[in-house]
Amino acid sequence: MTPTTSTPPDIALPPNLLVIDDEADITDLVASVAEMAGFSPFTLTDSRQFEAIYRQGSFNTIVLDLVMPELDGIEILRQLASLRSEAHIVLMSGFDGATLYTANQLASAHGLDIVGSISKPFRIGEMKAILDKIQQQTVSLGQKNAVPSRLISPTELNYAMKRGDFCFYYQPQVCLGEQKIIGFEALMRWPQQDGSMVAPANFIPVAEKSGQIGELTWSTLEHSLLDFKTLDWIAPGCTLSINLSPDQLSDLSLPDNLTSLIRQFYIDPQRIIIEITETGILRNLTVALDILTRLRLKGFGMSIDDFGTGSATLQQLRQLPITELKIDQSFVADLWNGQKDRIIVESTIALAQKLGLRTVAEGIEHLETAELLKNLGVNIGQGYALGKPMSIENIGLLAT
Ligand code: C2E
Ligand code: CA
Ligand code: CA
Repeated sequence: MTPTTSTPPDIALPPNLLVIDDEADITDLVASVAEMAGFSPFTLTDSRQFEAIYRQGSFNTIVLDLVMPELDGIEILRQLASLRSEAHIVLMSGFDGATLYTANQLASAHGLDIVGSISKPFRIGEMKAILDKIQQQTVSLGQKNAVPSRLISPTELNYAMKRGDFCFYYQPQVCLGEQKIIGFEALMRWPQQDGSMVAPANFIPVAEKSGQIGELTWSTLEHSLLDFKTLDWIAPGCTLSINLSPDQLSDLSLPDNLTSLIRQFYIDPQRIIIEITETGILRNLTVALDILTRLRLKGFGMSIDDFGTGSATLQQLRQLPITELKIDQSFVADLWNGQKDRIIVESTIALAQKLGLRTVAEGIEHLETAELLKNLGVNIGQGYALGKPMSIENIGLLAT
């Protein structure tokens, strides 16, 4: 069969989904389902061209056939791992389910984000359901993959950082049983001169790509940790959750640096919870385990953020020194509509209870959802219905 490659669609939207299969009818079929799900697909039948195409584009989703004559799917997964791809990956195979399962495990070991696997021949509805789910998560994951409203350069970010422009907003975390604030999550913001606010989706990826995320986190923490006094005044004994990027989980000096920083502010490590994602941990499991274990030994709490969207296996989860699972907001948002989301939430709660972990549900937009989650056994809730992220000045006003 002559390899064919489609031309990108005429519309202005750059392709964001790459379909790779040596059979053109399959790539075409997947591409039309992807269009129905709101993606802008690009098809590739000659897998040898994969790396060149991938590097040119900005694909957030890849649908990959495992069995191909030239470069097979497993080799492509390896390339994706070395390219440190964060794309959502859907695996396809004409082989039995066990092959897909093994490939899935392999990909997880590489730290890749496998969101689904599908046996060929598949039904259009099956593929559409997986792609719809990716779209929903992309939208509800705090617009993580959103296109920035304006392009921010690493130099601009560096100047802003040196000027100390960045700050944290704090979102309350509420104990669902007692209905009281027991913690806050620090969410970074970049206030502008005109009073507007740049959201993290617009600058965190720039800081990560340009290697500035560590410095950005430290500098913002350094001049925000004084805020902890106000937080503790509003909710005595509260915890503070901070987000770490995957790249920061390769910095072996992190546990010591973080401990000495918070000690300068007389904060007990037991009151700080580190949020990390499954992808962040799996990217370099051995080093991440070293760092997380030392942080845990120093007393920090450890939370898996966006739980359910990554691909950590139960075996890997059991090894991790974690204290909390944070159920991703995409499952919370769909709790009332989707039977499957409810099952995911219920099994996460059961899993957390078995492992002795506490559960936090994020993205709660309605009080009815908070009530339902409480009845399902979730310990802590976070979301617009319980409190939006607020500046420290507005948090202070909660007491008045
Ligand atoms: P995240 O850690 O999953 O944070 C939750 C996001 O959901 C926040 O978006 C929050 O404002 C938003 N949110 C809270 N309640 C609701 C709700 O009820 N409905 C909806 N639709 N959204 C809700 P935000 O502040 O834009 O942050 C987006 C992401 O940026 C965060 O996702 C986190 O991954 C990253 N981020 C934020 N601050 C930091 C930081 O200091 N360091 C790092 N590395 N990443 C950060
Ligand atoms: Ca978080
Ligand atoms: Ca989250």
